Amino acid sequence: MAECLFCKIVNGELSSDIVYDDETVIAFKDINPQAPHHILIIPKKHIASVSEVSAEDEPLLGHLCGVAARLAEKIGVAEAGYRLVVNSGPHGGQAVAHLHVHLLAGRQLTWPPG
Ligand code: 5GP
Ligand code: ZN
Repeated sequence: MAECLFCKIVNGELSSDIVYDDETVIAFKDINPQAPHHILIIPKKHIASVSEVSAEDEPLLGHLCGVAARLAEKIGVAEAGYRLVVNSGPHGGQAVAHLHVHLLAGRQLTWPPG
C-alpha cells in the first residue's frame, strides 16, 4: 500500500524508533505517547483493520499479542500491568488504516476509555 503510513515505516521510507523486528511483525514507539511506554505492534503485511482479518491471518494476530507480551516483559512492565488496545473504524478511534496493537504502560490506566 504505497500511501499507507505504517507500510512506509515497514519498508523504511519513514523513520521510526523500532524496538522489535521479525519476519512478519515490527514494533516501534508511538510518535505521540499516551503513557510512559507507548509502543505500536503491527503486521508487516498491510491489513487495514481487525475487521479485514482473514482466517489465514488469524495466527498473525496471535503473534502480535505474543510479541506485545514479550515486549512488556522486556521493558519491565509485565508485573505492574499494561493495556493492549486495537482501535477499529471511526467510532473505535482508528486514525491509521493499518492494523496495529497499542501497548500502553508505565502509569495507572483508567477505565472506561473516552
Ligand atoms: P489509532 O488511532 O489509529 O489507533 O492510532 C494511531 C497511532 O499512530 C497514534 O497513537 C499516533 O500517535 C501514531 N502515529 C501516527 N503517525 C505516526 C508516525 O508517523 N510515527 C509513529 N511512530 N507513530 C505515529
Ligand atoms: Zn499499510
